Amino acid sequence: MGYTAGIMNNVRKLWEKCNIAREFPRLAERVRFDEPMTLHTTFRVGGPADFYVEPDSVEELTALLSFFHEESVPVWITGGGSNLVISDHGLRGACVSLAAFRSISLQDTLVSAGAGLPVDELVSWCAERGLSGLEQFAGLPGTVGGAVYMNARCYDRSVSDVFFRAEVLVFHEGRYTVEVVDRKEEEWGYKKSPFQDCGPKPDRGTPPVVLSAVFSVVPADTETILAVMDRCVRDREQKGHFRYPSAGSMFKNNRAFGKSSGQIIDEAGLRGFTVGGAQVAPWHGNLIINRGNASAEDIRRLVEQVRTAVYEKTGFLLETEVVFAGEWQRAEKDENL
Ligand SMILES: Cc1cc2nc3c(=O)[nH]c(=O)nc-3n(C[C@H](O)[C@H](O)[C@H](O)COP(=O)(O)OP(=O)(O)OC[C@H]3O[C@@H](n4cnc5c(N)ncnc54)[C@H](O)[C@@H]3O)c2cc1C
Repeated sequence: MGYTAGIMNNVRKLWEKCNIAREFPRLAERVRFDEPMTLHTTFRVGGPADFYVEPDSVEELTALLSFFHEESVPVWITGGGSNLVISDHGLRGACVSLAAFRSISLQDTLVSAGAGLPVDELVSWCAERGLSGLEQFAGLPGTVGGAVYMNARCYDRSVSDVFFRAEVLVFHEGRYTVEVVDRKEEEWGYKKSPFQDCGPKPDRGTPPVVLSAVFSVVPADTETILAVMDRCVRDREQKGHFRYPSAGSMFKNNRAFGKSSGQIIDEAGLRGFTVGGAQVAPWHGNLIINRGNASAEDIRRLVEQVRTAVYEKTGFLLETEVVFAGEWQRAEKDENL
């Protein structure tokens, strides 16, 4: 039986007649239906996910994804929800968060972290042990899995600069298996990782799920590491990153147009430009904020209007970095803008 988009309680019915709840009773207790995604995104917008769960073992995750695959239920993987705009209509199918995968360990100069570990915790853990390499990521919202998937970049350091390998759950020859993915230079780029895909593809399983990642670090003086972390966090605070709910930079900033996206938006006179409760931050062109009552649709419309205005003025087509997910009324649903 296939999953029918638009029938919101379909996934609940499928879940009620499957065996996973009996096999994994602790997992079953954590399942939520119609879970508001405002609770799981830093933008604090988004309608409900039909089904939401945070598995805490590879066995639970594999059982869930296999079941959803058999039933053709689309699956969205999330971490900290800090780079996501979920539509006001919510997510049809299942939203599986890796937030409970929080292991951390060290072998020689390789630190291994579970996908759900907040990046900030990983950075502090390394600093306490005098391990350098990740301190520029201090204050970055979100999880290790999300940072690897997005190839997050902070203060001239990308995740790919320190990434060594990852354990990934992949759908291969009809089943989910854990694979080790080593770093290959050519698979990484600016905000690009080999794990990226554009959302669920029920016919061939979910995209690869990062379970854990290993980073190369080097011994260094703890005070020096802490000083870098402090500088990064203070700079974020000064730039107003945490003043209002947001998802950080809205547009990619690869300077392909010779200047930052923020500067291009500033020069187009769009600072403070508002649609409903969404606003281009009055102090930073590339930060779109939720003034308190924004809907996902406000954010989407604001993004489109900024892109159009910039294109008409400069000929530059800004590309969103933030991932737009869920059901949108427009044709280009479930894709990055
Ligand atoms: C105030 C603020 C400042 C920010 N500053 C920066 C910055 O300086 N630099 C920067 O690069 N980003 C920045 N961001 C954006 C964001 O924090 C990063 O992109 C972060 O790495 C996303 O991690 P997450 O766990 O929240 O991912 P989510 O938002 O949960 O997910 C993002 C994408 O990753 C996928 N994903 C998440 N976890 C996994 C997994 N385990 N396996 C496979 N796919 C997965 C999701 O499907 C989704 O497509 C900022 C955001 C905010 C709110």
